[in-house]
Amino acid sequence: MVAYKSKMVERIRLPSREQRERNLEAAGYNLFNLSSEEVFVDLLTDSGTGAMSDAQWAALIRGDESYAGSRSFEELEEAVADVMGFSNVVPTHQGRGAENVLYGALLSAGDVVPNNTHFDTTRAHISNQDADPVDCPIDVAHDPDAEEPFKGNFSLERARAVVEEHGAERIPVVVQTITNNSAAGQAVSVENTRKVREFADEIDATFVIDACRFAENAYFVSQREEEFADASIADIAREQLGYADALVMSGKKDGLVNAGGFVATDDDALFEQCKQRAILYEGFPTYGGMAGRDVAAMAVGLREAVEDAYLEDRIEQVREFGAQLAAVGVPVYTPTSGHAVYVDAGELFPHLDAEEFPGQVLACELYREGGVRGVELGSFAFPDTDRPELVRLAVPRRTYHREHFDHVVETAEAVLEKRETVSGLQLASDPVMPEIRHFTAELEPVPSSQ
Ligand SMILES: *Cc1c(COP(=O)(O)O)cnc(C)c1O
Repeated sequence: MVAYKSKMVERIRLPSREQRERNLEAAGYNLFNLSSEEVFVDLLTDSGTGAMSDAQWAALIRGDESYAGSRSFEELEEAVADVMGFSNVVPTHQGRGAENVLYGALLSAGDVVPNNTHFDTTRAHISNQDADPVDCPIDVAHDPDAEEPFKGNFSLERARAVVEEHGAERIPVVVQTITNNSAAGQAVSVENTRKVREFADEIDATFVIDACRFAENAYFVSQREEEFADASIADIAREQLGYADALVMSGKKDGLVNAGGFVATDDDALFEQCKQRAILYEGFPTYGGMAGRDVAAMAVGLREAVEDAYLEDRIEQVREFGAQLAAVGVPVYTPTSGHAVYVDAGELFPHLDAEEFPGQVLACELYREGGVRGVELGSFAFPDTDRPELVRLAVPRRTYHREHFDHVVETAEAVLEKRETVSGLQLASDPVMPEIRHFTAELEPVPSSQ
């Protein structure tokens, strides 16, 4: 059931078809290069793009900008203790700041870090400590059709193989990402979290939860894990997070703010280390790279994120969007995640090879046909992996309404109608850093063979 009405609005415009064609060409067929003014419905990411509540805007005005001992920080400490169950917090400018602070404190060169799937910035921060990030998803994680409830789970079997190969002494940290963002945002069960806790104890490792979408994950647990059928979402979230030794959090996701993040831990020694690193890289530990007002808004956002009405509105909106797309014949990854619908462009364009970037083609066609911006997460973003050719249509929190999604579905139908005539793309520029080429590389249509 819908849980919000609008109190402030932002004008959007659909550019004409000719303008969209011109914009695509000028952007080098890379939608990261578009100006937001050129986009009608922006589903590029759910990160920091949501709408704050009136209570958050009120908190913003009352934010305390004191360098040390800010009252807004105390509000954050209380919110993290109540909502997540951790007593020590180090605010950071966003999630990757938290990763730098925490993994810098925990890792040394040569370490190996298993995770159900490392998110890009997690992978990069672990590599930056000269440690080796290893993905341990379960087998069905990259199967778009398997109808299992917890496809985001951590594979203990794979993690044990990592121990076999490298030895427990080289694995000081085990990470679980909830929900599993890089595996189509799939949910992780509390039972799986308990097993990862046991595994971390067996090898004497620190257990870190990447909690970016902890509230969305708790909603899925309440719907799908029998043991928790009658539990409140707030209780589920506290229970699941409670198995970890430390959390990394991006406030831009389930913190319901536009910027911010933090590390949380009950380990006092680790907390001291994180504070020292925070002073070096972020700021004094009571503001840590955030404005006091943003800290205040995040404290309110964390509490709102575990409200039943918010989560039902949020997750059902995304689920409904996915169901609408599937109903018109768009191949979507199932089950739908909490923050995005993933479309299988490989299935949509079977005539295009991976080298012709079917996912990027779909992303561009959705813009051409309806001014919709999504993001490719297939061969263009992840060269040399055998992942499906997915396009992610991420849903900003509390931002779009049914009419917006109807428009996206109509746009997708228009692409479906011309699917056989669509041709591929090829790289037109050599990016400096191939690992992150999808942010900047330019493309061009493959010249037609006729
Ligand atoms: C977004 C995200 C991060 C990084 O957070 P930023 O706020 O973007 O720096 C880390 N892990 C996961 C799973 C994420 O989704």
